[in-house]
Amino acid sequence: RATPSKLLIVLTAAGGAFLAISDDSPFRSLTAGESGNDGGKKKKLVVLGTGWGGTTFLKNLKTSAYDVHVVSPHNYFTFTPLLPSVTNGTVEARSIVEPIRNIVRNKPYNVEFKEAECYRIDPVNKKVYCRSIQNLGHGENEFALDYDVLVIAMGARVNTFNTPGVEEHAHFLKEVDDAQKLRRSIIDCYERASLPTISDEEKKRIMHFVVVGGGPTGVEYAAELHDFASQDLASLYPSLKDYLKITLLEAGNHILPMFHKKVTDFANEKFQKDQIDVKTGSMVVKVSDKDISTKNRATGQIEAIPYGVVLWSTGIATRPVIAEFMEKIGQAGKRVMATDEWLKVQGCDDVYALGDCASIAQRKALEDAAAIMKTVDKNNAGAVDVGDFKEFVKDIYERYPQVRKYLEKNKLKNFESLLRNAQGDSQKKIDIEALKKALSEVDSQVSFLPPTAQVASQQGKYLAACFNKAGRCEMKPEGPFRFQESGGRYPFHPFSYKHSGQFAPLGGEQAAVQFPGDWVSIGHASQGLWYTVYASKLVTWRTKVLVVSDWFRRFTFGRDSSHL
Ligand code: FAD
Repeated sequence: RATPSKLLIVLTAAGGAFLAISDDSPFRSLTAGESGNDGGKKKKLVVLGTGWGGTTFLKNLKTSAYDVHVVSPHNYFTFTPLLPSVTNGTVEARSIVEPIRNIVRNKPYNVEFKEAECYRIDPVNKKVYCRSIQNLGHGENEFALDYDVLVIAMGARVNTFNTPGVEEHAHFLKEVDDAQKLRRSIIDCYERASLPTISDEEKKRIMHFVVVGGGPTGVEYAAELHDFASQDLASLYPSLKDYLKITLLEAGNHILPMFHKKVTDFANEKFQKDQIDVKTGSMVVKVSDKDISTKNRATGQIEAIPYGVVLWSTGIATRPVIAEFMEKIGQAGKRVMATDEWLKVQGCDDVYALGDCASIAQRKALEDAAAIMKTVDKNNAGAVDVGDFKEFVKDIYERYPQVRKYLEKNKLKNFESLLRNAQGDSQKKIDIEALKKALSEVDSQVSFLPPTAQVASQQGKYLAACFNKAGRCEMKPEGPFRFQESGGRYPFHPFSYKHSGQFAPLGGEQAAVQFPGDWVSIGHASQGLWYTVYASKLVTWRTKVLVVSDWFRRFTFGRDSSHL
């Protein structure tokens, strides 16, 4: 069943004893002196990205074994959970960012930061190609960096699903710039609608704010916008009160689909009371400069809705540079870059990836799937025994309950129908092409970790801990190789995610919180908890003080509506 990987024989210096380590053991490549023991020459560690994953990794990296080079188009870390609060001035943009140079100051490793974006990764020659964002003269914009070890933490881009007009006309909420632009656009609409030359019809259009996507970000933004409009702007622009309309469009059947039904129901009721129009089953098919066209999924009817500002918040997709890299390493066609459980990128040496740009593939499950595929291909008979298939599925389900959960939850079509077939006559044969399709469907979709700051920061911390210990593992190979799994011995436990719950702020000083085990709490107390948790999670004392004082300023003087 499982394909045993090649064995690497390592002679331990201490006792001359042989220790067998599987080839895919993590940090294998770090042993050849990357810990700085090869005559004093340090290895070059390049980190791409200064978001949740990259910054937590850098904060926790404590070894002096590397020369660290950081590349990111932003020379700061952004505390993304507070971005919606920046869109209405509840907190100021500078309060939620921390310069990366402050964060890595006084670290035991040498670090150099380059404000640039990486546009190509060459895994064969171990180089990353970068472009400065400063728009310098010809030939000064681009440079290449060699690496010995690469950590990719470049996050993801907004997913527009190639919907016409979105890039040109919609706002996004991924970066601080986006939040500031959105804040300006809202005030812009209020000021424009106040001009005497604007017709009633046009006022209605300008004052219609549309949010696309009923996930946590879209819902939180709609709630924040409602609070801003009702608590601050209503008294400053009394003549526009009746023109204001907020609409939330969601293509699925529910908003907040990842939350418990109690949370979804509460959010729906609250939004109804707040007159936020929630339209589920509405898929946006086109955005023009003044209208947003939606298709009703039940009736197929297309409707053009005039709008003043539209926020597009429908999830994330792979960045082009990562997609190109994935092609080079044999991961073309996958939804996200696959790593093993130690965050090492599959099909590539010395490259690690974490956060939104990567996903841990269920290595064993996929190896098993690959093994079955091989047997299936070999027998060439055009079919595989239902009994074998059942055994395979049973085994995978027993060892990987999350695979089962995933398949059941996502109802992967091909796999489901094969499973149904397998319940019957064991003499039956399963069509090989159908099986291949089913397995590739599982392979491309298996991704169990949500793209959240919680995951990215835990991965950053984990990877830094592995790097910190790598040198010790080399010096004392008999010591740290204590973690044992079938098929090999590994110096480190694989990464395991600990979910500590999720918040959904719903406006009016109310929030929902869902803890592990689906324990849900909704209301003002949960909002209090939200304030406490986020204040404590801010990465430096400076940002903690700034954000908390912004909250006090907002409670005391209200939000600032200046058209800056
Ligand atoms: P990011 O944090 O996005 O960092 C990516 C980094 O890569 C950035 O520094 C970027 O500048 C850099 N980069 C981009 N392109 C390049 C390039 N070409 N070369 C080099 N560097 C590059 N998660 C939660 O857990 N809780 C929340 O409450 C929450 N709220 C959110 C609210 C909003 C509005 C948003 C947008 C996200 C929220 N998230 C939340 C999700 C969370 O922010 C992401 O999951 C998290 O940021 C992922 O971390 P990352 O390091 O993978 O990517």
